[in-house]
Amino acid sequence: MTTVKSSNLGYPRLGEHREWKKLLESYWKGDVTEKEFHATSKEIRLTNLKKQIDAGIDIVPVADNSNYDHVLDTSVAFNIVPTRFGSYTKKLTLDQYYDIARGNKDNVAADMTKWFNINYHYTVPEFDNTQPRLLENRWLKYWQEAKNELGVNGKPVIVGPVTLIKLGKLHGDYVSTEKDIDILLDSILPLYQQVFKELQDAGVDWVQLDEPSLVKVAHEEEVKPYRRAVEALRAAAPKLNIELQTYFDAIDPYQSVVNLPVQAVGLDFVNGNGENLRHIREFGFPKEKILAAGVIDGHNVWTADLSKKLQLVTELQGISSELWIQPSNTLLHVPITTKYETAAAPELLGGLAFADEKLPEIVTLTQTLNGDDTRVSFTENAAALKALNESKARNNVTVQTAIKNLDQSHVERHSTYAERSKLQQAQLHLPKLPTTTIGSFPQSTEVRAKRAAWRKGHLTDDQYDAFIKLETTRWIKLQEDLGLDVLVHGEFERTDMVEYFGQKLDGFYATQNGWVQSYGSRGVRPPVIFGDVDYIEPITVAASTYAQSQTEKPVKGMLTAPLTIINWSFVRNDIKRADVQNQIALALRQEVINLEKAGINIIQVDEPALREGLPLKKRNWQNYLDEAVYSFKITTTGVRDETQIHTHMCYSDFEDIISTISDLDADVISIETSRSHGEIISAFEAVDYDKQIGLGVYDIHSPRIPTVEEIADNIRRGLKVIDDKQFWVNPDCGLKTRNEEQTLSALANLEKARNTVLTEL
Ligand code: GLN
Ligand code: ZN
Repeated sequence: MTTVKSSNLGYPRLGEHREWKKLLESYWKGDVTEKEFHATSKEIRLTNLKKQIDAGIDIVPVADNSNYDHVLDTSVAFNIVPTRFGSYTKKLTLDQYYDIARGNKDNVAADMTKWFNINYHYTVPEFDNTQPRLLENRWLKYWQEAKNELGVNGKPVIVGPVTLIKLGKLHGDYVSTEKDIDILLDSILPLYQQVFKELQDAGVDWVQLDEPSLVKVAHEEEVKPYRRAVEALRAAAPKLNIELQTYFDAIDPYQSVVNLPVQAVGLDFVNGNGENLRHIREFGFPKEKILAAGVIDGHNVWTADLSKKLQLVTELQGISSELWIQPSNTLLHVPITTKYETAAAPELLGGLAFADEKLPEIVTLTQTLNGDDTRVSFTENAAALKALNESKARNNVTVQTAIKNLDQSHVERHSTYAERSKLQQAQLHLPKLPTTTIGSFPQSTEVRAKRAAWRKGHLTDDQYDAFIKLETTRWIKLQEDLGLDVLVHGEFERTDMVEYFGQKLDGFYATQNGWVQSYGSRGVRPPVIFGDVDYIEPITVAASTYAQSQTEKPVKGMLTAPLTIINWSFVRNDIKRADVQNQIALALRQEVINLEKAGINIIQVDEPALREGLPLKKRNWQNYLDEAVYSFKITTTGVRDETQIHTHMCYSDFEDIISTISDLDADVISIETSRSHGEIISAFEAVDYDKQIGLGVYDIHSPRIPTVEEIADNIRRGLKVIDDKQFWVNPDCGLKTRNEEQTLSALANLEKARNTVLTEL
């Protein structure tokens, strides 16, 4: 008989009431002492652990907690710190740690970037000039704490050495060559060995070695450093059991990876298009090893279909000698509990499973395989799913028919760009090098205070509306005074470019307490797309037409595109993602048409998250990009030739997706490039980009005011390769995080720079 156990890979840090976030922020403000900080952190850690034990999880993770970010914890434990912060010989103080995480008066913070393909951001390790040494065995410390306080032999979770190296930078670039990986392994492997030996000697049974970078490995050759690492760790601590954990996708060099010398291999059976399962069916699984099967979705919020999952784990049980049932990845990336979602309709609530609702799913599957009577759980589960699937929200015939009837006419403008652009110019009369901004203006303290007051009911709808109008009028006037050519309404009514649309479309649920950590103490509450997405009524038309009524200059309408909405939401998984995307697109298409009808001649549809949603494996890119183009075109092609469609992208390097950008067939794209001007321009040249382009000519992320000369130089550089008839002048992103003074000074310089360059043409 195969032994079956339940296991977890990590638990959310924030706390049910965001206690952890509040603790960090109070400490930063000086409202709690370091001693209080540590005492409360410990309470939070133990509460989280106790919940997992009480739920019946056999193998619980420890040391998955953090004071900011687990990658940073791993780096600083080994003295891998950016050189500007010096080098350490003993454990960093809490303040030294936060200096690196958040920056201080002398130094900017360490770089932060996206963790694989999800919305968590880690602190980038920098491997220059440090003397790696073990400053603290934090894994042992938290294992001991769990043992002493709760009597549990927990499973320390540690970011594996190869993943740590590949996520890090050497001399400013991400580490990628075999040689660099080897050199860095030489210096950090002995430290990992020491950690593992100490864990073994203390009596630790299992350690979870996270090597998610394995899912990006395409060739056998690249498995070498992972083999070298686990061999070294085994040699240093032969009695310590290693669970080599992968997640977020399937493993390509399957046989090499499952045959690495470890006692358990953790595979993701939720993501990766079923490839891990196909490999197991074809090649089997090593007899002497434990299969740690990630079967419960660790980064979505839906109740699992237990009978389907049971089929899967039953099959896996037959293949391995010992089976662990676990989530596909740490539960860090889902909210904690659905128990505060009191506003959710019962059929939705029954279909939602956050971290605390996923634990019992894991336990139920384990118990079932172990022969317990779990029929009640299965009956309840089936009823909950049935209620959600049969709900009105998931059976909107109009929307479903519209999706079925999509055809070429929904994704084509009437005329080519060359023809449209003439008609647009005849209507708009824009000067050469037109100036504009990306959409949002400062969300000042006053704007935020009024919104909060309105939400609490201290302001009536009319009062709030009047305030927003006042602010819009004021900024229309400011934009006119600056001399900008295409104006925006300023987005004062929006907190967030996704949440706002979620609130106005059918099929979305805004959680009350569904917080997940985005980075550091920052939490986000992604909307939940649970039903068919439908257009209820105009969303932005009133704001845009009001702004247009205040000026003779063209006002640009402002929407968020489907991919960005979907990438920043929790998305239903009972239908294809592309269908959800297209439902959103069809709803927005109506909004675009309504804006046009209301006299808005320029409409910008923002797609900043298109690039970041790219699948982890390159071979899946094309399909993703084709679907992205399709939904963008559904959104934007319902208009007359005279209407000018803009789009905007930011946050990333675009070289990989330039031809996709061109395929979107937007008349104008504005793009964040102020930090990487040269490369992007030549990339556009390479695809013969014939439409218009606004290159961000200064970096809005910094409070620094760019000089006229600097901006002019950026424009001149762009004009070397892009025709002046195609070129727009704009900041590189929205201005909502800047203050009024910074915004006005920077835009005044932008205008002057444009005017200077115009005289040179
Ligand atoms: N229109 C949005 C804004 O200006 C775009 C935001 C973004 O690109 N992230 O705020
Ligand atoms: Zn942007």
